[in-house]
Amino acid sequence: MMELKIQLIPTGEIILPPGKNGENFCHNCKVVASDGVRAMMESALTARDRVGVQDFVLLENYTSEAAFIENLRKRFKENLIYTYIGSVLVSVNPYKDLEIYTKNHMERYRGVNFYEVSPHIYAVADNSYRSMRTEGKDQCILISGESGAGKTEASKKILQYYAITCPASEQVQTVKDRLLQSNPVLEAFGNAKTLRNDNSSRFGKYMDIQFDFKGAPVGGHIINYLLEKSRVVHQNHGERNFHIFYQLIEGGEEDLLRRLGLERSPLQYQYLVKGNCPKVSSINDRSDWKVVRKALTVIGFNEDEVEELLNIIASVLHLGNVQYGGEEGSACITSDTQIKYLARLLGVNGSVLTEALTHKKIIAKGEELMSPLNLEQASSARDALSKAVYGRTFTWLVNKINASLAYTVPDVWVVVCCSFEQFCINYCNEKLQQLFIELTLKSEQEEYEAEGITWEPVQYFNNKIICDLVEEKFKGIISILDEECLRPGDASDFTFLEKLEDTVGGHPHFVTHKLADGKTRKVMGREEFRLLHYAGEVNYNVNGFLDKNNDLLFRNLKEVMVMSENNILTQCFDREELSDKKRPDTAATQFKASLAKLMEILMSKEPSYVRCIKPNDSKQAGRFDEVLIRHQVKYLGLMENLRVRRAGFAYRRRYEVFLQRYKSLCPDTWPNWQGKLADGVSTLVKHLGYKPEEYKLGRSKIFIRFPKTLFATEDALETR
Ligand code: ADP
Repeated sequence: MMELKIQLIPTGEIILPPGKNGENFCHNCKVVASDGVRAMMESALTARDRVGVQDFVLLENYTSEAAFIENLRKRFKENLIYTYIGSVLVSVNPYKDLEIYTKNHMERYRGVNFYEVSPHIYAVADNSYRSMRTEGKDQCILISGESGAGKTEASKKILQYYAITCPASEQVQTVKDRLLQSNPVLEAFGNAKTLRNDNSSRFGKYMDIQFDFKGAPVGGHIINYLLEKSRVVHQNHGERNFHIFYQLIEGGEEDLLRRLGLERSPLQYQYLVKGNCPKVSSINDRSDWKVVRKALTVIGFNEDEVEELLNIIASVLHLGNVQYGGEEGSACITSDTQIKYLARLLGVNGSVLTEALTHKKIIAKGEELMSPLNLEQASSARDALSKAVYGRTFTWLVNKINASLAYTVPDVWVVVCCSFEQFCINYCNEKLQQLFIELTLKSEQEEYEAEGITWEPVQYFNNKIICDLVEEKFKGIISILDEECLRPGDASDFTFLEKLEDTVGGHPHFVTHKLADGKTRKVMGREEFRLLHYAGEVNYNVNGFLDKNNDLLFRNLKEVMVMSENNILTQCFDREELSDKKRPDTAATQFKASLAKLMEILMSKEPSYVRCIKPNDSKQAGRFDEVLIRHQVKYLGLMENLRVRRAGFAYRRRYEVFLQRYKSLCPDTWPNWQGKLADGVSTLVKHLGYKPEEYKLGRSKIFIRFPKTLFATEDALETR
């Protein structure tokens, strides 16, 4: 069994304020043409000048960010949204439907080498598929980019490509249908409208597709991590809760809503009004509801399961409407309407639930006591329950989808839901960047070795120092945070900050208000620490770090949920959690562990990369916002990637491909070269006047150091 993973990595939505890096941007920069091609470029608006180069390694001035962006811009203007950096695909969201995803296009990319056709997501899909089949190696496709950059679309395109082009049988068809249908369900429960994207995935995910020996997709597996469950109880202005809530309210049938005790207006629900935008013009919740309902059936949910699932979704809305009153020190619930619905929908005892929502169980001198919660504590307990119920149900849903796709029993995976997302996501980015650079270097090195060419070491910025600052045992930020979370007594967000100053205060990538110099101090609050990430500086406010890292659900609320008669909840809240005396791992530690596991998996596969870029914040077709794009180029580490890729040779081709393309330029190789391919290429380039320092001949490929050499050869072909 071979596997192909598709992973979506939500990167950088929050890292670095855009604009920060844009000040020095040169608006009129131009790709500097080399001598060999300048005359040609000046003489006419040639294709290369108009549409740029299709591989950034061919940029003459490859260290210039401005030249990089100019190339992207040219191509974007021509609706050429895809460009390579070697084998990495850079994609810019066009925000309009392009006629490049037809069946004809799929055919064009089938079995064709990467460089023979223009860059395309299908080329990546096809290439991974073929490497998997011919080399028998597991593959993974990593798709990264910020929210709205086009990651989900890219993964759908890859799935569609496989659905159409891979061999199929009837049984395979079912898996394909389920794979495709799992998307609307995952989107309903895991996506939401944010300011930046109307349909933003609020969780990281992988999708594995498993292929049998004939290359037919026979199974799949989805792993989710980092669901942003705080969204269940709070949304920023202009944002929404997860789609499913609105879909249910807008699209649910009359008797369904009656049974769930819901009204057909999102405005009635506290959890749906925080962002003040229940309706979104680009979203039709009612028709989406129908799609989701149908998809649930295709995936294989039976009626009882759907009913129990919807009971939970409705319960979360009712929970949000539980209001507290009473005296300051001891909260009580002001109306029992919600409790009645909750008791029925969750299958729990109403009065036990009421007590758990207003009291905390403490054990003093071996005796259990119920201590009343104040208003604030009671609201947090309620919200913690909503988040836990939704988060765990989401995990259940993903597992259920996996079961329906499973060909083999999937590995058990730690699923982490992390509430202080900013810190965690940026840490995740940092790790991925490290891996990305390491793997790019490694594959370059391996290719040189395989071709018998001497490796020349590359200077690059190794961000391990920042990863260590965050994750190192005992003295990394996460360890210090955990220590404060476990320390009884006066531990608070501020003692955490002080500990950080004591422990990592001297680290070159760490600053606080107290440690900063005068200029930096002006832009830092006293409650903040700053990390110098590889992509730039980010300030983090420590408020809430301890609480969020603890992410506590009071024991008595867990007890209530364990007693639930709802079958989904009994799977989500395990009795063992109560008997386990050991403290559960903190959110950050769980996240760290799952990232380590993720890295391990990624290291073991052969990766392909798709780097998605969002061209503007207004979701408009044709708008190329330089500042925003420059910012993404930076934090996606694209310049670093290009540098590593260009360190040795800009261009490399297999002998037969090179010879086929240019053989007409030399009388000895035209129309056919009869001898060894390497000799043919050698004869050809000597005839073309290549100097020894300009190229090297490996075992199966020619390596050309500078783009201008290749351009001159290309030009010779054009003017022949
Ligand atoms: P992400 O998953 O990175 O948050 P999406 O894949 O959801 O972003 O893309 C956001 C929106 O941008 C999509 O809903 C779609 O309208 C548009 N879009 C993205 N990629 C493409 C594409 N290749 N062609 C046309 N529109 C696209």
